[in-house]
Amino acid sequence: MSNQISEVAKRRTFAIISHPDAGKTTITEKVLLFGQALQKAGTVKGRGGSGQHAKSDWMEMEKERGISVTTSVMQFPYNEALVNLLDTPGHEDFSEDTYRTLTAVDSCLMVIDAAKGVEDRTRKLMEVTRLRDTPIVTFMNKLDRDIRDPMEVMDEVENELNIMCAPITWPIGCGKEFKGVYHIHRDETILYQSGQGHTIQEKRIVKGLDNPELDSEIGDELAAQLREELELVIGASNEFDLELFLSGELTPVYFGTALGNFGVDHMLDGLTEWAPAPQPRETDLRTVAADDDKFSGFVFKIQANMDPKHRDRIAFMRICSGKYSKGMKMRHVRLGKDVTISDAVTFMAGDRSHAEEAYPGDIIGLHNHGTIQIGDTFSQGEALKFTGIPNFAPEMFRRIRLKDPLKQKQLLKGLVQLSEEGAVQVFRPIDNNDLIVGAVGVLQFDVVVARLRTEYKVEAIYEPINVATARWVSCEDPKKEDEFRRKASTNLALDGGDNLTYIAPTMVNLNLTMERYPDVTFHKTREH
Ligand code: GDP
Repeated sequence: MSNQISEVAKRRTFAIISHPDAGKTTITEKVLLFGQALQKAGTVKGRGGSGQHAKSDWMEMEKERGISVTTSVMQFPYNEALVNLLDTPGHEDFSEDTYRTLTAVDSCLMVIDAAKGVEDRTRKLMEVTRLRDTPIVTFMNKLDRDIRDPMEVMDEVENELNIMCAPITWPIGCGKEFKGVYHIHRDETILYQSGQGHTIQEKRIVKGLDNPELDSEIGDELAAQLREELELVIGASNEFDLELFLSGELTPVYFGTALGNFGVDHMLDGLTEWAPAPQPRETDLRTVAADDDKFSGFVFKIQANMDPKHRDRIAFMRICSGKYSKGMKMRHVRLGKDVTISDAVTFMAGDRSHAEEAYPGDIIGLHNHGTIQIGDTFSQGEALKFTGIPNFAPEMFRRIRLKDPLKQKQLLKGLVQLSEEGAVQVFRPIDNNDLIVGAVGVLQFDVVVARLRTEYKVEAIYEPINVATARWVSCEDPKKEDEFRRKASTNLALDGGDNLTYIAPTMVNLNLTMERYPDVTFHKTREH
């Protein structure tokens, strides 16, 4: 195998999707513990303010809310694989970055609080993964607590998320009675020991389901119950099928406790074995395979102020083909300009370090002085553009207003640039001079006002506005479009990129409008 092919083949790039509090941060810590990126788990978020991070306004904001705004990328080896874990903010306050990060991975880990089942945010994030049929691995968490009937939770996943479940492990008891899991594929029982969450535990394994040792370890009654239950479970659930997994139709399911660091390794074994290596990516010209010789990649996220010593922004690029080496020249396709990149950064367990080399599936950070936008493609000369890096219809809206009305021009410039960066979306109604800011997470609003103040020297404030949702609109028939523009003009606006948008005061209004104008298409996402 050539070096390029083997480097590509061992990479697994994934993100975690979950509802806040399901255990994403905890599982990330344990995953890194296994990756030996950390000696001892428990330092990912820097909870309690260890003083490790230098402080910026950004970090202050993060600290105040006790959440992680920075979406970092962690790389570590596991088994034969080299894993890239893209962290996504999991808190109530999240942003479009979360959505777009999911377009830069090849698989996802879905973490579910097994006491609660399928929750809201998970539903939404699953919807986004469906845009690319991303393969999903599932971890049922918090087995050290009293959970719901595991069969029932799996049914809920199947019905609500429309994905088949194939249990790979099966839990034995839960809460105080949690004894471990039976690994269906390996035909062995792995016994749980509580209070070992901060270390990699020495495994206690009983081979074979009929092994009498199992009875003495977990008790005759539980052992009998397990055998009976498994017969039922295996009969009633789906068998794992690699093809169905890779097409996003079936998810392997693992049980455990992230806090107790139990079961996380089983999940990682499955993920590194089955999850796909870097996948081919679509461009406007052709499909780009990961083992293409020539370098290419796209920007899916731009982050400001990560390091207060550098006032610049970092553009996160997913490499799709070829190889990045320090000092190489690449073409910034949208600008038609060649740039020499000598200081790209990689993100290892939260640290920024200079990357010498990076391969498809890896993420590198480019210093951005305002020229790079979300969705930008970089190549080795070819004028191609990656597709499928969308804007998502915002769900929250505010009118933004200046304290000093003379600075209207700066405000507009700032908003348009921030929207190009993907920090927020801006809409200018056709019929009036309002400026409407739209976001998918409420934190985006605060970030925008803070950045307008520091970077554009304008003081802006928000006012509530009666908007429920927005849809980008298109119409094939110019006459019908004209009519729509005239009749619906009170609800029409242009976004930061001058795209026509329908601003709906209520969902009912949107539905009625869609019925009334069947020739107009209303889009929930828009490509950059
Ligand atoms: P996130 O919001 O999804 O990142 O969730 P966290 O990892 O911060 O976890 C939320 C809370 O659940 C924290 O108090 C964790 O200690 C707790 N937690 C996470 N995993 C487990 C688990 O397996 N068992 C129990 N009992 N608590 C857990």
